[in-house]
Amino acid sequence: MPTILVATSNNHKLGEYAALLNLPDLQLVSLRDVGIAADAPEDGDTFTANSLQKAHYYAKKSGLITLADDSGIVVDALGGAPGVYSARYGTPDLDDTGRRRLLLANVNALGNVDRSARFVCVIAVVTPTGQELLSEGVCEGQIADAEAGEGGFGYDPIFWLPAHGCTIAQLSAAQKNALSHRGKAVRGIAPRIQGAME
Ligand code: IMP
Repeated sequence: MPTILVATSNNHKLGEYAALLNLPDLQLVSLRDVGIAADAPEDGDTFTANSLQKAHYYAKKSGLITLADDSGIVVDALGGAPGVYSARYGTPDLDDTGRRRLLLANVNALGNVDRSARFVCVIAVVTPTGQELLSEGVCEGQIADAEAGEGGFGYDPIFWLPAHGCTIAQLSAAQKNALSHRGKAVRGIAPRIQGAME
């Protein structure tokens, strides 16, 4: 069966991709499955540059078709921060919860400002012959006034969806996949991955 490496060691992400890609003839493996522990360089200043950098790095290391993504949250009132630095926002000792609290505190400290924000995800797929596929997905929303919800991960509890009247963390996994940046990016690339494997 054709195999595609999903460049993550995070089983939560691998599971999200397995559900989203929904390509039954394709075996998905993680970095852990193929025994790659090294961290790819990730020093671009756009989501696209970072996802391509990671996909090329791991495709070369593994010899497999490789899917890598880069994602984050872009907050207008913070001049687009944290953006590509979403996973490294604040001081290095912070975990996901600490970064989320910091972001909420920083937006609240600005007072009565426009709270618009978006999640962005760029997926890059690189084949061993160097062919590149790219797809971007965006999910528009606002920074909530306070945390709400237990679902999802990362910044989900502070990402308010005006059309739904709740945060992303208050949606089911299936509801999130239907409207998330990652869901949209995957749906934009899945048919093309199938094509690249033929
Ligand atoms: P990376 O794409 O794995 O480098 O992570 C990007 C950062 O953005 C992480 O800190 C995540 O917490 C955050 N992020 C990316 N996608 C989501 C999401 O769907 N919900 C909440 N946070 C996210």
